[in-house]
Order: sequence, then structure tokens, then C-alpha cells
Amino acid sequence: MVSRRTREEHLERVRAWVRKYQPLIEQTTEVRLGDVEVKDLEDFHQDKHAYAFSRGVIEEGLDPIEALKILKTREWLSMPKNRWSLMFDKTIMGYVNFTNAIYLNMRKEEHFSVSITIHELSHGLWDKISDIPQGRSSEEDEWSEGFAAYCQYQEFYNLYTKDDCVEGMGWLLNPHPDVAPYRRGFRKVSRAVIVDKIPLLEIPKRWRELEEKYPQENKLEAGDFLELV
Ligand SMILES: [Zn+2]
Repeated sequence: MVSRRTREEHLERVRAWVRKYQPLIEQTTEVRLGDVEVKDLEDFHQDKHAYAFSRGVIEEGLDPIEALKILKTREWLSMPKNRWSLMFDKTIMGYVNFTNAIYLNMRKEEHFSVSITIHELSHGLWDKISDIPQGRSSEEDEWSEGFAAYCQYQEFYNLYTKDDCVEGMGWLLNPHPDVAPYRRGFRKVSRAVIVDKIPLLEIPKRWRELEEKYPQENKLEAGDFLELV
């Protein structure tokens, strides 16, 4: 585990990237992202109440004692390990819409980067534009990942300053099954923007309609996606 000091340094480094790039993203998109916090993923794991809220297990404004009862009975004690925490074990940084925060996985500290910060801010952007919360279905997950990757490598590419290095997109070609949703999502968003000329910022509202139009994109192999960009 990283020391307290290293942890603070990582948090501060990513906060500085957010301070630098959030206003640029807001300027080009004319969408306000609000007060985006940067926190340790450990904070999220401890925040059971907020997590349950995100799953719709408890509702906002519910009496805390009542909420605790529900947490004990329905979800927490019965669930061996939830999908979200499994996902977070693998992730480097993650944006969570109901806290409007980017969480850093300190076990992946060597991978923290400005371009992943832009990716996470783009999830925030998706959330502000879309009409339902992010991550409610695997299709929306895929479109949202594709949107964030498209922002990271295409749409906001000219925002990066020379002193910030941007790693390549080669990881999207990784045949590991965990990468496939990113690849399919990236391909779908690229196709919508480049071929069908759909404005990028309309995608968070129109992805369901597009999902029906692009069924063949779900069968793509790793080598099939790059010719669009
Ligand atoms: Zn993402």
C-alpha cells in the first residue's frame, strides 16, 4: 500500500489535471461538469450508504436508521462480492456519477495519467448530458466507455498541452475480454460521429436508437476497428 504522503501526492497531481482540463472541456462543450472531486478509491469502498443509494436500494431522504436496516438485510450481508467492487479492483481511475467524483485505485498508481483523467471527466460529461444515470445496462456501459475513449483520443486531443504526454490507443486492440466493451463502444461512437455525422454531444441521449442501427458492431474482432479514425 502506498504511504499517506504518496497517496496525497497522487491525489494532488490528478486534482491539478482536473483544474487544468475541466475548464477547457467545459469551454469547448458548453456543458458544466460541476464540482468534480478526486478521491481515494478506499473512500468509495467505505461509502456503503452512497453505494446502496446508487443501486437504488435506498432512496434519498430516507431515515438513516431505516436505511441501515435495508442495507443489512437486502444487499450487503447477502452479497458475496458485488460487480462494482470487482470492476474497481481492475480499474485505474473511475468516475462515479452520484458523488461526481473520480476515484483513484492506489494499487494502480503507476498508470495514473492525464489522458485517463480526461477519460473520466468525459464520463462526467456523459452523465450531465444523458437522461439516465450511467452504468445501468451493459449497452449503456459500452456506449459510455466508447464516448469517454473517443473524447480522450479524438475530440479533446487538441486540448492536451505539449508538456502532458498522451499514451497511445494500442490497448484497445488487446484481445482480453475486459477490453472488448471499450473497443466496441469506441467503434460505435466513431461510426456515429464520422460516418453518420451525429454530433458527439448528442450521443449520450441517442445511443439507444444508434444501438439498434449498429448490431453488426457487436461482432467485431480486435483488428476491425481502427480504419474509422
Ligand atoms: Zn471509462
